[in-house]
Amino acid sequence: MSQRHPSVGIIGAGMSGICQAILLRQAGVTDVTIYEKGADVGGTWRDNTYPGLSCDVPSRFYQFTFAMNPSWTRLFSPGPEIHKYFQALTDRYRLSEIIRFATEIVDARFAGGRWQLTTGAGEQLSHDFLIAATGVLREPRTPAINGLADFDGPVMHSARWDHSVEMAGKRVAVIGTGSTGVQIVCGLADFASRLDLFQRSAQWILPLPNPRYYRWMNPVRRRVPRLSAIGYYTYHLVFEWLAGALIRPGWRRRFMSGACRANLRTVRDPDLRRRLTPDYQPMCRRLIMSAGFYPAMQRDNVHLVDAGIDHVERRGIVTTDGELRELDAIVLATGFDAHAFMRPMSLVGRDGLTLEHLWAQGPRAHLGVALPGFPNFFMLMGPHSPVGNYSLTAIAEAQANHITGWITRWRAGEFDTVAPTRRATDDFNASMRRAMPGTVWATGCSSWYLGADGVPELWPWTPHEYRQRLAATPDINDYDIDSLVTSA
Ligand code: NAP
Repeated sequence: MSQRHPSVGIIGAGMSGICQAILLRQAGVTDVTIYEKGADVGGTWRDNTYPGLSCDVPSRFYQFTFAMNPSWTRLFSPGPEIHKYFQALTDRYRLSEIIRFATEIVDARFAGGRWQLTTGAGEQLSHDFLIAATGVLREPRTPAINGLADFDGPVMHSARWDHSVEMAGKRVAVIGTGSTGVQIVCGLADFASRLDLFQRSAQWILPLPNPRYYRWMNPVRRRVPRLSAIGYYTYHLVFEWLAGALIRPGWRRRFMSGACRANLRTVRDPDLRRRLTPDYQPMCRRLIMSAGFYPAMQRDNVHLVDAGIDHVERRGIVTTDGELRELDAIVLATGFDAHAFMRPMSLVGRDGLTLEHLWAQGPRAHLGVALPGFPNFFMLMGPHSPVGNYSLTAIAEAQANHITGWITRWRAGEFDTVAPTRRATDDFNASMRRAMPGTVWATGCSSWYLGADGVPELWPWTPHEYRQRLAATPDINDYDIDSLVTSA
């Protein structure tokens, strides 16, 4: 039987959308279009440009196995370098010819056996397969702080950095102590005349240094690609080890906790140390890696403000103790809506089933990539993907390979449409919930890992087990499959 030629639409030209498009084209799928609402590729690495931005996963592990970069400059490369990596992949794999920039998909519905898409400009499009590569932390969360709009100076979310604002010599507030807030504090401490970090919850910090790589090694790495592979798989083992600390109690967790507590003891002033001490277990929230944070917090121009924010006025922020802290700029490092996924786009599956209806109890996806009632639809970085303190490129690659496998079967004529059954999706979800109590994420803290019901939404086993599940031949009993053979 001759091969069929599927038409595939991918939403998003960020890290995972790029990965998916490359793997599909390498598998011989030629009709692929990426819809990107922005003007450039790179997703989170395009949107986040704040000072101090880097990736806290080692660069040698934050890349694709099919396109290792031999020239990373540091153990944890700065954001612009990572963005350049994805831009370079776009050039190398000639993806610009299949990306439609400035094109937002606002509605996608399954009708007539295909996905019918509508763009923000009202254009109608159609594909056999639809893949949402819309990212995890994309929708900035702006806190409802009284009077924020009254502030005289600039207010910016970390993911919408305004580079026209000069921060050097200014009095700057950073609100939020997640990975982003910590990186911004390290990035601004040298320049701001006064930096106030508004902390609602203290964080555990692992002090990982960020050494430069020797440049003379780059030509050697280019000539011997195996060196990059060795680097990748070494970090892979390290992160599998770390996952062990996250998902079950034991000596690894105690070791990691000890390392965080020892780091905290490097804060010399006992009062500051007390105020920086979290009231939950290390790693319950995403563990922050930073060698520079505690040194920055002990500088004379940097202040920890742990009184709550009462309101903002024209001149600055007023805390609940009545003190006004006069400011020139306010930075909101207040995180993202981690449960938005592809929304606000509207998604409608078979028989009018809406995503809102399917997700009435919270985001659920079979194996993190597929939804019951949504045939020939897949997600990258969907609910329950192992995204906590792990390499998202590694996860994207495993998911994209899995999805490519389904599309390859379609090409061979094995089926017309596929979606996981409701039972398989519910069973998958129930088994994860049963495993959650052993994880550190369920030890009693608030974080973006938790769903509305307070249960963590991450993968509760090792990333290796996740990759194995994705790579295994799918159990067809877990899928509603309309096949050419059975319908003939
Ligand atoms: P986040 O971890 O969700 O942290 C948001 C911070 O804002 C929290 O400290 C939160 O306080 C605070 N906050 C929110 N609303 C507030 C309010 N009204 N008043 C005072 N404080 C408020 O967000 P994030 O730092 O942007 O990080 C999100 C995720 O992005 C990370 O967990 C990580 O996965 C990813 N990230 C990765 C890297 C990397 O290097 N790979 C770098 C940056 C970010 P509470 O804690 O009290 O809620």
